[in-house]
Amino acid sequence: MPRPPQRLAGRIWVGSVTVLIAFIAYSSQIFIIWPWYGREFSFELVQLLLPFNLLVAFLYWNYFLCVYTDPGTIPRDWEPNPTSEEGFELKTLTGTPRFCRHCERYKPPRAHHCRKCKRCVLRMDHHCPWVDNCVGHYNYAHFLRFLWAVDVACSYHVAMISYRVWYAILYPYWEPSGFELAFIVANYVTCLPVLVAVGVFSLYHFYCLFTNTTTVEGWEKDKVTTLVRRGKITEVSFPYNLGLIENVRAVFGGSPLLWCWPKHPVPGDGLKFSVAPGTDESEQYAWPPKDPMREREKQTKHELPSSPWTFGNGDVNPALRPTSSKLRTANVPPYHPSYRGPRHRDGWRDEEDEDYVEEEEEEEEVQQKPGLRMRRGSEGWEATMPDRWAQLQIESAVNKES
Ligand SMILES: [Zn+2]
Ligand SMILES: [Zn+2]
Repeated sequence: MPRPPQRLAGRIWVGSVTVLIAFIAYSSQIFIIWPWYGREFSFELVQLLLPFNLLVAFLYWNYFLCVYTDPGTIPRDWEPNPTSEEGFELKTLTGTPRFCRHCERYKPPRAHHCRKCKRCVLRMDHHCPWVDNCVGHYNYAHFLRFLWAVDVACSYHVAMISYRVWYAILYPYWEPSGFELAFIVANYVTCLPVLVAVGVFSLYHFYCLFTNTTTVEGWEKDKVTTLVRRGKITEVSFPYNLGLIENVRAVFGGSPLLWCWPKHPVPGDGLKFSVAPGTDESEQYAWPPKDPMREREKQTKHELPSSPWTFGNGDVNPALRPTSSKLRTANVPPYHPSYRGPRHRDGWRDEEDEDYVEEEEEEEEVQQKPGLRMRRGSEGWEATMPDRWAQLQIESAVNKES
């Protein structure tokens, strides 16, 4: 499935990544390994380089698929069926179906709007600038295979170059020339950071694969944990965790023999997903659970204060403020000092998704305020901590005078 046309900046970025991969993969072979093996074909040389070149080919193939595969968007005529049992459940659980006001379409479970791609993406994971594409339902498997290939190929590359260096240390006769040494350094400098960065990133994505969670759902899970901790909602289980093997099958397909084969069709249509055993099918439409207090606030209109010089929301003393979530989630007008402008997170933006982005930002803001002690999860009132140092100084000054 081809994807929509790309922007020029994205093409340049993808071109640079392709060149970087080519530099690491081929300069090491041409300028380091080839002279080391005496510039002659031998069985040992083929034995060393054949697996590496197969890995590089696999890496390029998956990179190409990741860039050019459409992650999938919502079909124009798709909408949750209100007459079916699932439509009925949908209404009782969530009140209203999820709707994207940018695309003006109903959103299936796990779909989110991507600000960069300017459309909704099925089972959206994240927008990846390295592939200049969204990682979603139809290219997530390619993306994981690409990450795996980068990890293995870079490890092989570093081992190969280190073996060359080790050989030079053991046998000074085999010392590399200045030209070779320059390429050894350049290869370490380009490959090691890639291996570390992609390695850590892939560990997170393999964890996501094993738990059938997208990056967006990882944030949603954090938000749900906070809501449960604050006693706003009861414990909710994540509906898509099917068990280790089934989670992998949900991304790579049924047969383990074909998990590494890039052309393998992706299971499902991205509009409806299997849920954990013992979980009702309809629960996927209720994920993520919403903050009931915020839902109520969304429905109540903000009233303008009588004077623009009063403290917003009728606060009396700014040093004596409620730590309740009401404060953190208060809707304030644009002239209020707490107003932070339209919220967004890089790559994607959404009416509902903004919710926890906003909350995270405001929590940071609360932490940064000096002298204001906030107890997370408490709903009471707390005064600022007294400045003990200032008090001691005053006391000593009074003592001196007396
Ligand atoms: Zn959209
Ligand atoms: Zn995108």
